[in-house]
Amino acid sequence: MKDPHLVLGVLEGDDIGHEVVPASVQVASAAAEQHGLRIQWKPMPVGRRALDTHGATLPAGTLETLATYDGFVLGPIGHREYPKVPGAINPHPIMRKHFNLFANVRPTRSYPDIGCLRDDVDLVIVRENNEGFQPDRNVVAGSGEFRPSEDMTISVRVITRKGSDRVARVALALARSRRKKLTVVHKNTVFKLGCGMFVEECLKAAKDFPDVEVNEVIVDTMAMRLVRDPHNFDVVVTTNMFGDILTDEAAGLVGGLGMAPGLCIGDGDFAMAQATHGSAPDIAGQGKANPYAMVDSTRMLLDWLGRRKNIPQAVAAAGSMERGLTAALADAKARTGDIRGQGNTESFTRAVIGNL
Ligand code: ATP
Ligand code: MG
Repeated sequence: MKDPHLVLGVLEGDDIGHEVVPASVQVASAAAEQHGLRIQWKPMPVGRRALDTHGATLPAGTLETLATYDGFVLGPIGHREYPKVPGAINPHPIMRKHFNLFANVRPTRSYPDIGCLRDDVDLVIVRENNEGFQPDRNVVAGSGEFRPSEDMTISVRVITRKGSDRVARVALALARSRRKKLTVVHKNTVFKLGCGMFVEECLKAAKDFPDVEVNEVIVDTMAMRLVRDPHNFDVVVTTNMFGDILTDEAAGLVGGLGMAPGLCIGDGDFAMAQATHGSAPDIAGQGKANPYAMVDSTRMLLDWLGRRKNIPQAVAAAGSMERGLTAALADAKARTGDIRGQGNTESFTRAVIGNL
């Protein structure tokens, strides 16, 4: 039998990325070893360090090299703090676009004793990743923001039938594997054409998933209901900016940004593990960042690649990681301060590995 094997890029990013990404690699390596999966990790510079060493936050050839791998782990990028020089760009949107990773899958779940505001959250928000209001990734030529006069700015939001249909199908397939409920979040009362098209395409796609119960919620109502009755939601699908906001809100319900993992996927077999949080420069270098989100993002990557490429060892390794993470979260001495623990990045990572 062929020896099961994955090649994964490792892009630490900035600030706490240098702490939580190595933790993720350690945990995934230990889990992989347990199940006879070989992972070749390929470190590549990106972000501030790449700017210093290569003169660009996304060095030439990075995307082409990554394309030859099975996927990659991407740490947070602190692009707002980069000096204003050419080459100092935010690589995230470019990567999502380049690899056509149009769906950002972001699970949220409550765990006991870590300071969750609700104990009944178990949902996944699927955020459209490549369209919407995001100025630098619009499909129209040039920028998505325009200033026709000094006193006026126009922001363009792009919604396409194809983009809506494909993200809906990702969410529907995910719902099918869970509690079979999908909530489409939008604001078609105001954005009649844009959100209107999004909802239309979601409902059309849902016809191919008759076993999934589909309903719609207006985004402002959703912001309220996420707090009031999160247990009523299983999978949520929404457009880019609504998804950006709602996933942070959902994270706030379950212990904060350190608890918010994510996986960016598309139609192919290639995926990118990316936690929801940013680079958190305020706590960088102190060893206190919560690695949960990044480790769990990496777990999602192994699970997804294992299923797509039929590598049961990768699925099993992801299962071990989940057990390790759950046990480490229950250990107050090991877990980090943001989730009511007395530990740090290192103690949490050790606890995960000890409980795989
Ligand atoms: P971005 O624009 O990149 O999303 P942001 O402004 O939303 O960044 P983050 O860096 O995501 O900010 O984080 C906000 C704050 O949340 C941080 O300053 C930090 O205190 C806390 N935080 C974020 N991630 C973690 C983590 N993994 N562990 C502990 N605290 C975190
Ligand atoms: Mg943020």
